[in-house]
Amino acid sequence: MVTSESTLRSEPDYTFDFCGGQLAIDFTNTVGSRGGAPEEHLRTFGDLVAWAEARGILPRAGAARLRRAAAGRPAAARAALGRALELREALYRVIEAAAATGRPAPADLAIVNAQVRETFSRMRLSGRRTRSVSENCEHAPRLELTTEDAGTEYVADPILTPVVRAAVELLTSADIARVRTCADLSCAWLFLDTTRSRTRRWCDMKSCGNRSKVRRFRGAR
Ligand SMILES: [Zn+2]
Repeated sequence: MVTSESTLRSEPDYTFDFCGGQLAIDFTNTVGSRGGAPEEHLRTFGDLVAWAEARGILPRAGAARLRRAAAGRPAAARAALGRALELREALYRVIEAAAATGRPAPADLAIVNAQVRETFSRMRLSGRRTRSVSENCEHAPRLELTTEDAGTEYVADPILTPVVRAAVELLTSADIARVRTCADLSCAWLFLDTTRSRTRRWCDMKSCGNRSKVRRFRGAR
């Protein structure tokens, strides 16, 4: 197996957290303690591939293919990681602002839009190879949205394409009004509040919610 430093994970023991409840949001939550002393969890291209594999947007064979491509083109892999991180940070600010005021900063939107144009310019609708004959709408024949292979210049494409699509879907849907920022200010992760009462306060009750409870308990003594 071909490996290089950039295809390895920087923290093999770190388990990625998907409490955001939406693909694009989960992507923005790959930095720990965002509101305090940020901790980067995507330090290598291998980290990005591992995240995508764990999130279920990249099959194992696809992840192995990307690692091979990155090992053969380390400079391209580094550049792809840089673009992914730039997109992630702009996306965080755009989603947060869209949920709060509906008016993201033009500079952030420009970064996201550059990736949206890049992604959608290579998308094509095509007929499905297998045709279902079910009467059920869920399984009715549908067209498929596929992405042309952009070649090795864009090694992170199989990861960023679904993230960008998910971001567009979120930002243009009513769900954007359900996006909240974790009440733990040092965390500041985003999540989609799907509770009926719309009262979820923490990205993860087990971590941030508990920390708050402990703080309140200590403060009460
Ligand atoms: Zn949190």
